[in-house]
Amino acid sequence: MQITDVTVRLVQSDCGRKWTLVQVYTDAGIVGIGEGTYSHKEFVVARMVEDLKGAIIGQDPFHSEAIYQRLFGGGREGYHTGGVMFTSAISGIDQALWDIKGKALNAPVCALLGGPRSARVPVYSHFGGRTPDDLVRDAQRVLAEGYNALKSDISIAESHGPKATRQQLKNIDAKYRALRAALGDDIQIMDDPHALFDPPTALEIARLIEPYHLLFFEEPTIPEDPDGYARVRAGTSTPIAGSERLTSKYRFNDFFRAGAVDIAQPDIVYIGGITEMKKVAALAETYQVTIAPHNTKGPVGIMAAAHVMAAIPNPLIQEMIAPSRIPWRNDVLKDPLVIEDSCLVVPDRPGLGVEFDERELKPHLVS
Ligand SMILES: [Mg+2]
Repeated sequence: MQITDVTVRLVQSDCGRKWTLVQVYTDAGIVGIGEGTYSHKEFVVARMVEDLKGAIIGQDPFHSEAIYQRLFGGGREGYHTGGVMFTSAISGIDQALWDIKGKALNAPVCALLGGPRSARVPVYSHFGGRTPDDLVRDAQRVLAEGYNALKSDISIAESHGPKATRQQLKNIDAKYRALRAALGDDIQIMDDPHALFDPPTALEIARLIEPYHLLFFEEPTIPEDPDGYARVRAGTSTPIAGSERLTSKYRFNDFFRAGAVDIAQPDIVYIGGITEMKKVAALAETYQVTIAPHNTKGPVGIMAAAHVMAAIPNPLIQEMIAPSRIPWRNDVLKDPLVIEDSCLVVPDRPGLGVEFDERELKPHLVS
């Protein structure tokens, strides 16, 4: 089989992002689909895919490892100088190659990766609010949508970083106290301050929220400082998560060796696709680190990450934008995304198992 063409389409979602859909065509008539969405830089990634296209036309789509190496290494045209928009483009192509393989072999991607069929991947969604009452009300709304795990940015919404005042710390404590009192102990809660605290402040907050048993405290400080993460992690029993912005196994290895995280959050798009995410999960396994993919993508990116989660030994939970925020998301799919008991059901269909209904998708396409 040979790759004959690569195209990109942008779909305007309701969350400010444009799903960046990469189609890879073959001489066997099989078309693979992948997603390279990098928020607010979608046109750049689309152009990057166009730029990489020449390096893969004529290649066998089954050679996904060699194609990843060729693209990441820059082939004859460059050398490891990429960055996140570069790896996002590679990811869109890589996912599409796995989709082609699954379709050609009539097997779901998770089965090709070593996982069971029809796996269920735990997922979480998001909530927010200004006051403790607002937060409780919004959390209950998300729980009613079928989730039992949810994340907000309470810590950073209160203080804005990089420091926090005594009063802001008290307010953070009051909000988590109200949430636990209202939701009980069995709901999983997470906090994401988007890397905006310095290490001493992050550590103070991580300690402050220990009584509320969060599933994790995410990106406590900047990812450029793995030692800062390690300093926070060493001083608290609150599990520390992070690494959504890292773009290769080499950076993840630096993170793990520093003892930066309990939970790694590779993004299937930024990391460069299924091929590289599987390797990051294996590296994490050697450090007893679990995987909680960052995922703010459309249906293709959601499923690409879920297929990997179904096949690795160290899955924890996957991020997923709740259906209520993009009410038409399932309408543009031939088969809807199914969430049961706060788990995403990985489709037992060939490839990634995501096909669009072209008529329904058309009004959402960016021309
Ligand atoms: Mg985050």
